[in-house]
Amino acid sequence: MKKVLILGGTGDAVKLAAKLATIPEIEVISSLAGRTKKPAALVGQVRIGGFGGAEGLAHYLQENSIDVLIDATHPCAGQITINGAIATQSVNIPHLMLVRPQWEKTTGDNWIEVESVEAAASAIPESVNRVFITSGRQQLEPFLQRSHISPHIWYLMRSIDPPEIELPNSKVLLDRGPFSLEQERKLLRNYHIEAIVSKNSGGNATYAKITAARELEIPIIMVQRPAMPIGEKVTSIEEAIAWLNQL
Ligand code: NAP
Repeated sequence: MKKVLILGGTGDAVKLAAKLATIPEIEVISSLAGRTKKPAALVGQVRIGGFGGAEGLAHYLQENSIDVLIDATHPCAGQITINGAIATQSVNIPHLMLVRPQWEKTTGDNWIEVESVEAAASAIPESVNRVFITSGRQQLEPFLQRSHISPHIWYLMRSIDPPEIELPNSKVLLDRGPFSLEQERKLLRNYHIEAIVSKNSGGNATYAKITAARELEIPIIMVQRPAMPIGEKVTSIEEAIAWLNQL
């Protein structure tokens, strides 16, 4: 019997937990940060909340006799991924990072690539009046700051739960992906969006907005992923299962 801890918070983590739960020799526990009020339903055991840094995670791994850690967190969740690498090394258990490939720019894409959400807020061209924020409700402060400098910018913000910060000139849409191309085209047209802020999440669930932006010639301010720690990585659930099988 192998006890596998999945660091989750993504659709891939949900799918991986469901697959692993069907394998008799595996006991699966999914870990969530606890940011979303109603997280997607998960098969198997679930624990919620931070561990208390890399040290806390290492302690949890030992206390709960975890044999393997699979980090299936969002590619932009940099801290927990570093913690996973440090903690597994300190307790000496196998560690895998499941990282979806990033989106690559293609003909017709107009991307302004930036390193952070702060840089994204600064990179909104002054000539732009209507911005669609899809980079998450937890990082709205930079747009609030930008509102003070550029009060003419109106923001459309989409998130699963309501944001804690209210932008003065904005509308919030509560919704959970995946979003279809038709939906995204309609949204961009109906709200007369002139620029989009996105993280380079990769995967299909939220890619339709990238296609719709290309079609409508809307620029995307694309927040790059943080650097990842050295370690074993796969890009799909199938590869993650194959990796587990060869342990
Ligand atoms: P982060 O900056 O890498 O992590 C901050 C802290 O949150 C970590 O140090 C850890 O606290 C706790 N944490 C994060 N993920 C956890 C997990 N799966 N289980 C238990 N604790 C976790 O992460 P973030 O960017 O705030 O993202 C939080 C969660 O949202 C992640 O699980 C991620 O998969 C999901 N998510 C993030 C994004 C994004 O754009 N960043 C997008 C979609 C989903 P302790 O140090 O106390 O252990």
